Amino acid sequence: MSIQVFGMPVSRGVAIGRAVLVASSRVDVAHYFVGIERIEHEIQRLRDARDAVAAEIEMLKNELPAEAPHELAALLDVHLMLLRDDTLAVATKTWICERHYNAEWALSAQLEVLARQFDEMEDAYLRERKADVEQVVERLLRELTRNAAGGAPEASALRQAARDFAGEDPLVLVASDVAPADMMQFKRSVFTGFVTDVGGRTSHTAIVARSMDIPAVVGAREASRLIRQDDWVVIDGDAGVVIVNPSPIVLEEYRFRQRQSDLERARLNRLRHTPAVTLDGQPVELLANIESPGDGAVALDAGAVGVGLFRSEFLFMNRVADLPGEDEQFEAYRDAVLALQGLPVTIRTVDVGADKPLERMSAQEVRREHGLNPALGLRAIRWSLSEPGMFRQQLRAILRASAFGKVRILIPMVAHLGEVKLIFEALARARAQLDEAGRAYSRVEVGAMIEVPAAALMIDRFLRHFDFVSIGTNDLIQYTLAIDRADEAVAHLYDPWHPAVLQLLHATITRAKELGRSVSVCGEMAGDVAFTDLLLAMGLRSFSMHPARISSIKQRVLRADTRFLAAQLEKTMTADDPAEAWRLIAQGRVSH
Ligand code: PEP
Ligand code: MG
Repeated sequence: MSIQVFGMPVSRGVAIGRAVLVASSRVDVAHYFVGIERIEHEIQRLRDARDAVAAEIEMLKNELPAEAPHELAALLDVHLMLLRDDTLAVATKTWICERHYNAEWALSAQLEVLARQFDEMEDAYLRERKADVEQVVERLLRELTRNAAGGAPEASALRQAARDFAGEDPLVLVASDVAPADMMQFKRSVFTGFVTDVGGRTSHTAIVARSMDIPAVVGAREASRLIRQDDWVVIDGDAGVVIVNPSPIVLEEYRFRQRQSDLERARLNRLRHTPAVTLDGQPVELLANIESPGDGAVALDAGAVGVGLFRSEFLFMNRVADLPGEDEQFEAYRDAVLALQGLPVTIRTVDVGADKPLERMSAQEVRREHGLNPALGLRAIRWSLSEPGMFRQQLRAILRASAFGKVRILIPMVAHLGEVKLIFEALARARAQLDEAGRAYSRVEVGAMIEVPAAALMIDRFLRHFDFVSIGTNDLIQYTLAIDRADEAVAHLYDPWHPAVLQLLHATITRAKELGRSVSVCGEMAGDVAFTDLLLAMGLRSFSMHPARISSIKQRVLRADTRFLAAQLEKTMTADDPAEAWRLIAQGRVSH
């Protein structure tokens, strides 16, 4: 039966594929595809884990004190039986062989299937056996994770696995929530679309989905319960609708739309290397947001004239026990700089915390674990300043990369002049340490992200210290309106058109320009065509966005006349409903 699930559109287009359900297991599970050559290895890992867990349970059983209730021994017997039962082993092997899942993913996928079968059982006793299966799988997952030497394979192996997979049915990912760190792994995989139960439009999971330029819907509350493994699913990333097991007519309609949007993409692609200049001759800088050095080539290919935001925290995620040191970071930054072939690269110092924890945790788990609102906690520059040794290490690595091209440093979430003082002291020490070690570096500009209202209101004083500013609208909206950007329950209140947000944006752009400093927007608003004209009207001439958005924004820029737009701004800024006011202006313009 066909059903529809509604959520929030976060990445445009239509995806059609078979559902891959990713269970929110209690154990952190890595999900990645393995190449043909690694399949036997994964099966062996599974066997080894099974033997180790069986031995562990046998030992527990043998060591049970004589007075222990006999139910305990019986329970351990049930676990041993489940472990040796072929239903689990054979089916899990099938996921590895046919789908190329790594062992942990295969096991959790099979748990998902079994859990549903148990849920549907009439017999209450049998239904309760689900907990036993979960416990056994959890033991196996722990064992596998403990022995996962080096974790996921190298990017090249993942790409090869993705190539091996080509030609199979397309796959779409369905999950309750996905940690941003997991998304980075999916980024290198073969999913053609995403659906999650939770999340907001600018949650980091949504941002990574958008950077992959594949259709995605988040906040689809019941999706992971209603959709089953292997169901055919249509993700309408424009409307925020997910259609499960669509009828042939609906499917045909979506296939048609998919072809249309492919054509549109190809058409836009031709603008890649056209300079972005408005009708009235204003040049506009279109920069890229990247998450890894590998994205540098993608940015260049998309026609970016530099990187406006390198979210360096993605190098740190999933690495709690072994955070990247100075050399490893330096190599990553240098690779990004080299990939940009002389164009500027703005590297943001680590912005962990809130919905980007170092551990593999989803936003929901963060909230469950930390209770208090982590978005207001030890995040971004606050975290860096609480770890001064690590902060200097990162600064040294970035400075060293500046010997290979044009580098700028960007500091996230600055709110206080006291922080500014500490930041520049740390920089001075990092430079002195490099001098002492005889390491080369060049002059780098240092900028602040304007993403806390306090920073927007202090722009004059901040610009006595910083060379440039970049407005992080994702957080600026969150902190101005007191709306957790990752919380789907308040997502309807997350409003970029709110007059208070527009005022802060306009004032920041205007003042930075008056002071002769460069100002750009690197939040999601910069890559959304709905805001291009408005930002141009405010005087913005530098936009940083996912590479995949550059052509669409450029098309908008090429059709804009900033003289006309600027003349309309006042009316919009003073309207009670700026979105409606701007829409009317746009309509008037079209009919002229
Ligand atoms: C922002 O807040 O707008 C921004 C670009 O930073 P991030 O989304 O990584 O918090
Ligand atoms: Mg931010």
